[in-house]
Amino acid sequence: MPFPNPIFNDLPTTIFTVMSAQAIEHGAVNLGQGFPDEDGPPSIREAAAEALIGGPNQYAPMRGMPQLRQAICNHARRFYDIPFHADENVVVTSGGTEALTASIMALAGQGSEVVLIEPAYDSYRPIAEAVGARVKTVKLMPPDWRLQEDALAQAVTPDTRVLMLNTPLNPIGRAFSREELEGVARVLAHSNAVAVCDEVYEHLIFDERQHIPLITLPGMAERVVRVGSAGKMFSLTGWKIGWVTGSKVLIDVIAKAHQFITFTSSPALQLGVAYALEHEMDFTLGLTKALQANRDLLAERLPRIGFDVLPCEGSYFLTAGIRGLTNESDRAYCERLVREAGVALIPLSVFFSGEEPDHLVRFAFCKKRDLLEQALARLERHFRVGDG
Ligand code: PMP
Ligand code: GLN
Repeated sequence: MPFPNPIFNDLPTTIFTVMSAQAIEHGAVNLGQGFPDEDGPPSIREAAAEALIGGPNQYAPMRGMPQLRQAICNHARRFYDIPFHADENVVVTSGGTEALTASIMALAGQGSEVVLIEPAYDSYRPIAEAVGARVKTVKLMPPDWRLQEDALAQAVTPDTRVLMLNTPLNPIGRAFSREELEGVARVLAHSNAVAVCDEVYEHLIFDERQHIPLITLPGMAERVVRVGSAGKMFSLTGWKIGWVTGSKVLIDVIAKAHQFITFTSSPALQLGVAYALEHEMDFTLGLTKALQANRDLLAERLPRIGFDVLPCEGSYFLTAGIRGLTNESDRAYCERLVREAGVALIPLSVFFSGEEPDHLVRFAFCKKRDLLEQALARLERHFRVGDG
C-alpha cells in the first residue's frame, strides 16, 4: 500500500477509542469517551423495533424519512421558532459526524480556508484537510474561554468558506452568549463564509441558560447550517442518526455530498427518532437536569482532590487543571491515571493544534450517579483524600 492519503495515514486513532480501550484493559471507570451508560426511553426503542419488524427495511429516501424530516422541522419551530420546510431544509445523516463531514465536503473545497475555534472537536480538521482546504484556528484561552470578535475577524480571509462553531462546546462546556454570537454574525456578514454550527448538545445546557442557534440571529438564515444528533438528545449514541438543517441553497449542496458518503441510514432508527422528537422531548429536558446535578457533584468533589475545576455551562463534559497534582503533560497524566487510579479521562491537548495548553483534562459526566461516585472514590483513594 505505497501511497495512502497522508491526511489519514499520519492521523492517530481518535483519543476516545484509545482511552476506552485503556479503560477496558485496566478495568477503569470510563469517564473518557462521552457516551451515557443508560439507554434512552424504551418507547423510542419500541417505535424503532416495530419499524424494524414491520418495515420499511429498504433504502430510506436520500434526504431522510419524511416523518423524521417533519419532526426535525417541528422541533426547530417549537424551540427556536425557525421556519424550516421538510422538503427543502433538512438532510438526515448517519449521526452528527456524517452531518459535519458532508457539510465540510460540500461547502469547502480545494484551496479554500476553514476556520476552527480551538479547542475543537477532533473530526473537523482531518476532513477539512482531506478536501484540500487550509485550516486556520482561533484559540480560546482558559479559564473563561471567551470568543473574541477581533480574533475571529483576523482569522477569516476572503478565501474562508467555512467557520466551524460548536456550542455548547465539547470539550470545555462553553455555551456562547448572545453577545459572542453577535460578534460571529458581524464577521460572517462581511465574509464569503458560512458557519457550520455543531449544536449536538443544544439541549444539554445548564443553569437556566438558553441555547441560541446562530442561524436565528439577523441576517444569518442564509449563512448558517445547524447540525443535530439524536444520540445526544435521547441517550442513543449508538444509533448514529443526525441531521443538517439550513437554507435550501446550502442543504441542496450538502445533500449531494451526503448521497455519496452514506446515501441514507436505517429507516427503522429514523422512525424511532421521529417518534422521539414528537413524544419524548421531556426525556431530553429531564436529562439536562440530571446532567447538571452530575456536573455539580464533580465540581464539588474534584477540587478537594486537587483538580482545578473550570466552569461548565453545558454538554457532557467538565474540564479541570492538573497542575496542583502533577507536572506531567495531560496525556502522560491520563495514561498513568487510568493504570494507577483506575479512572479514564481525556487530555484536552488533543483538541488543540500547535502550542496547546497541556495541563487540562476532561471528565465525561453523562454517567449514572453510582459510577461517578465510584470514580470519585477511586480518585480520593489514589490521592489519599481524607487520610489527614
Ligand atoms: N460533534 C460533537 C461536538 C460531538 O461531541 C460529537 C460526538 N460526541 C459529535 C459531533 C458526533 O455526533 P454523533 O455521535 O451523532 O455522530
Ligand atoms: N464525541 C464523543 C466524545 O467527545 C465521542 C464520540 C466518538 O468516540 N466518536 O467523547
